[in-house]
Amino acid sequence: MAARRASLTIAAMNTLTSSSATPSDEGASPQLPRIAVLATGGTIAGAAADATNTSGYQAGVVGVDQLLAVVPALSTVARIAPEQIASVDSKDMAMPLWTTLAQRINTLLAEDDVDGVVVTHGTDTLEETAYLLHLTIKSDKPVVLTAAMRPASALSADGPLNLLNAVTVAANAGSRGQGVLVAFNNKIHSARDVVKTSTYAVDAFQSPEIGALGWVQDGRVEFQRSVVRPHTLAAEFVIGANWPHVEVVVSYAGVSRITVDALVAAGVRGIVVAGTGNGSIHASLQQALAYAASQGVAVVRSSRVGSGHVMRNGAAADDALGFISAGSLNPYKARVLLMLALAAGGTGPVALQKTFDTY
Ligand code: ASP
Repeated sequence: MAARRASLTIAAMNTLTSSSATPSDEGASPQLPRIAVLATGGTIAGAAADATNTSGYQAGVVGVDQLLAVVPALSTVARIAPEQIASVDSKDMAMPLWTTLAQRINTLLAEDDVDGVVVTHGTDTLEETAYLLHLTIKSDKPVVLTAAMRPASALSADGPLNLLNAVTVAANAGSRGQGVLVAFNNKIHSARDVVKTSTYAVDAFQSPEIGALGWVQDGRVEFQRSVVRPHTLAAEFVIGANWPHVEVVVSYAGVSRITVDALVAAGVRGIVVAGTGNGSIHASLQQALAYAASQGVAVVRSSRVGSGHVMRNGAAADDALGFISAGSLNPYKARVLLMLALAAGGTGPVALQKTFDTY
């Protein structure tokens, strides 16, 4: 395995070393904004043994300096301060890395000479990390995540243009105060709304129903709407090392209560259910979740559908059973919010519902 990783890395380096020098503070005008680029891994830093392979590659093996080196135009947009925070496939994202990343971004943005941050990330859990940062970054300076669907070694790799566009958005004055953004395939999305919607398409991210905030193209940035719900400086959450145990379960035909009962026995603090349709739940699962709620476990109803919102069911169900509705958050973003709310001391369905109605 180690040998395979090494040979993939060398293949990636061979592909990339024909490019020009790494953009840096020296190459760029001192008048340009200073943008920290924090690399965490993902397909954007992925490498395969040959350029036609876009599925059998290893994510997170190309370093941040090499990612920057293939985009000389960056030096016309910003002064870049690169940092390698991690080198992971984002399917393996874990909460301690979230803590490290958010704390590092907060430290950087508190410095006068940092004007914004770009995070390179894998696409698989990008929407979760983006929403986590949206709620815990204490600055109105731009934070922009980007990624790629094709590895750095691929023909027509999408990472270099996505990276240039992300830095362009982070360096743009209009991005300030918009919350955490995702720049991907020429679109600018809000961290709250964006979701991955395709397994292989280069246009892999959408903001279902609500649409993107704007676009970035050939150095131009345009916002067409702004984010209404509170975020960053206006959000009450503080990043820390305390991550309450919250899991996601799914409702489907014939589902049993085994998983929920096991989670309650394991002492879980919260359960998000990806319900059918408008957050409806199979009767056997609902019974188990009602028991969980009666034991003090926070139970949040969301939907597995992929778009639309989940209405609170009032006296008919949610009030009686002690459930919370996730509104328009998908199950994975609802889990992020529930963990932060529980970590902040939130407790009981009434207070937690207010949190979900607010964020
Ligand atoms: N598995 C990769 C990751 O999330 C997929 C990608 O980046 O497109 O790191």
